[in-house]
Parts: sequence; structure tokens; C-alpha cells
Amino acid sequence: MKPLAILGGTFDPVHIGHLNAAWEAAELLDAEVRLMPANVPPHRPPPVASAEQRVAMLRAALQGQSRLSLDTRELQREGPSYTVDTLVELRAEQGDRPLVLLLGEDAFAGLPSWHRWHELFELAHMGVLTRPGVEPTWPAGLAEAISGRLTTDPQGIRATHAGRVVLMPITPLEISATRVRELLAAGQQPRYLLPVELLDSPTLLAPYRR
Ligand code: ATP
Repeated sequence: MKPLAILGGTFDPVHIGHLNAAWEAAELLDAEVRLMPANVPPHRPPPVASAEQRVAMLRAALQGQSRLSLDTRELQREGPSYTVDTLVELRAEQGDRPLVLLLGEDAFAGLPSWHRWHELFELAHMGVLTRPGVEPTWPAGLAEAISGRLTTDPQGIRATHAGRVVLMPITPLEISATRVRELLAAGQQPRYLLPVELLDSPTLLAPYRR
């Protein structure tokens, strides 16, 4: 059974950095990857675009391929979307299928501040997106929690449904939604930072233009 991997985020807006990370992870893991927009991210200021607008951009960006898909469950839930609740739900649905929570290296380093973070390892594998050729370093508490779980073999995680931390080097693309929003607010056209479907739409990027 192909693993199911999840890339969560605000996607305000979705950009080429997100799409490439999800795509390369799908290839390394030979997995189905779902992009999962968050409703009220617990650690962050509210998004500029509404949930409906962010979903519309994701739908447009994902058209024409079937490897990456969209999962809007966190938007349907009231209140903050805690990853642990989402993984409990997915685990109940997916049985013994390997689940992989994809996280950028920075997000992973902040894991000890997440709600019920120790439980995450019981529910899913973690796929940490790293920079090729750079050995990642973690804060002490986290390094201790993951020693014995670390692997660099994305295919090897299929042997179990959860609990490994797989380091996955992907092509580094220094694109952030913050930068994209700044460019759009300044009246510019960040054509090659965004999926072309967003740039060519007359309405999808309206929330960011001044
Ligand atoms: P913002 O600039 O608004 O903080 P962002 O561009 O970092 O947004 P998020 O929606 O917060 O985007 O990111 C969702 C997930 O995608 C996170 O796990 C993040 O680490 C990852 N991600 C974001 N940008 C990139 C990128 N350029 N390359 C690889 N992964 C990325």
C-alpha cells in the first residue's frame, strides 16, 4: 500500500516551493501526498485570504496532475487545527497504512512546542524536508526524542505505520508566501514563484493586491 503523506500549511497563497516540496516527497516516498490547508494555525497570525480563497487557489494549482491532492478536513473543523487531532482522524480512516507528516526542517525543529507532540510519533512517520548536503541539527529535547527513530531511507518506512523520522533532501527553493504577498501588494507579478494558473486568473490573487 502506498504511504499517505500530508503537507499542512496556510497556503496563503500556495507557491512553487510548496508544490515542488510535495512533488519531490511524493517521488522519494512513492506516496500519495495531500496538501492540507489549516484553518486557524495555532502559532500564527490569521491568513490574508479566506479559507475559501485559499482552497480555490490550491484547486487551481493542483489541476492537471493526480499525484498531489487536496484535503480540506481542517477547514471543516471548528477552532484551531491541531496536527494531533488530524492524525488521530486519519489513522482511524486509514488503518495500518503508513502515514507521513511532511515538515520543513524549521517547522520540525519547533516540534516540542506543538500540542501533545510526543503522540505524533505513535500516529505517523515524520518526513523532514532537508537541504541536500547539509546535516540538520536539532534542539536537545528533540534530538533525544528522535534518536533511534532517524532514517535516510524513504522506502524503508513502509515496514511500519508510524514512528520513524525520515530525512529527505529536496531541491531548495527559497520561496515564501510572505515574499509573494509582498510582491503582489507592491503591484508586481511574481510569475515564476507561483503556479501559472494563479497568475493567469483574473480573481484568485485579488486578496493580496492593494
Ligand atoms: P509564510 O511565508 O506565510 O509563513 P510559507 O511560504 O512558509 O508561508 P506555509 O503555508 O507556512 O508557507 O508552509 C506550509 C509547509 O510548506 C511548511 O511545512 C513549510 O515548511 C513548507 N514550505 C514552505 N515554503 C517552502 C519552500 N520554499 N520549500 C519547501 N518547503 C516549504
